[in-house]
Amino acid sequence: MTRKPIRGRFAPSPSGRMHLGNVFCALISWLSVRAENGTMVLRIEDLDTARCKEEYTEQLLDDLRFLGLDYDEGEGVGGPCGPYRQSERQDIYREALSFLTEKQLVYPCYCSRDELHAPSAPHASDGRVLYSGTCRDLTTEQRAAKTRSPAYRLKAKDDDVVFTDGHYGPQRMNVREEWGDFLIRRSDGMFAYQLAVSADDAAMGITQVVRGRDLLTSVAPQLQLFELFGEMPPSYYHIPMLLAPDGRRLSKRDRDLDMGALRERFSSPEPIIGHLLYLSGILPCDEPISARDAVAMFSWDALCRQDIVVRQI
Ligand code: GLU
Ligand code: ZN
Repeated sequence: MTRKPIRGRFAPSPSGRMHLGNVFCALISWLSVRAENGTMVLRIEDLDTARCKEEYTEQLLDDLRFLGLDYDEGEGVGGPCGPYRQSERQDIYREALSFLTEKQLVYPCYCSRDELHAPSAPHASDGRVLYSGTCRDLTTEQRAAKTRSPAYRLKAKDDDVVFTDGHYGPQRMNVREEWGDFLIRRSDGMFAYQLAVSADDAAMGITQVVRGRDLLTSVAPQLQLFELFGEMPPSYYHIPMLLAPDGRRLSKRDRDLDMGALRERFSSPEPIIGHLLYLSGILPCDEPISARDAVAMFSWDALCRQDIVVRQI
């Protein structure tokens, strides 16, 4: 049986310099695609104009070049599914929003920040505040009387979503319990992550999504959107998080492990890539290796499932 070639993607948000956790995600998604001779797409998720800067996008492209992670389609390369920056794809999201609105699945939400975080608000299993559904059943008159510009939310489906994560195995989640009626568009007009990422993964024909385990629960709303769009969803492969020695997740605040600091210490990418692949179980020894040479070593079975503590490299 011939399998359809994989289309994978790396979808970073340029809200700071890439840190080691982003490098790990870029590397594993790239290896997984290259090991199967698939197509790799680079999409820049820069909808949050307050946090994303052109300068960070430029640095990101340069850091990926330094790491030897090349792309067949995407920002800086072009391709048939462009533009590859979310900030230039607003028409696609607008169309998705009107499609969902026509299906009567979207409603305006006038709640303020304080109302959303009221002590009575429901919480998800991991402590995130959930939307209580206050504005779901407002009448036309009640809506007309509101003066705030609304956000838009999607009516979350209440059946369990069952899927198999390529790395963490079978999952069962409930969009209502994990997310409630989730955001599609913020009150300031910015399209929300769940809508943009699903519309783009669908429009770009992505068949494999590899990303940090912190986004595992996002599969539930994304599968709901794929179902509504009538599109075939990708396979989802989540990967372990990188942790600082004190147990915190690495973030863009960990400057000593961002690409700026790492490139000051290492003039080539091999020690960084070798270390990440050693820590994650793919390589038996902590030895320098290029991304290209690591393709033959890659297997999902070898990759660990527990989060990875990074001491200094
Ligand atoms: N842009 C998101 C991030 O940087 C990743 C989105 C995704 O992989 O689904 O965290
Ligand atoms: Zn509301």
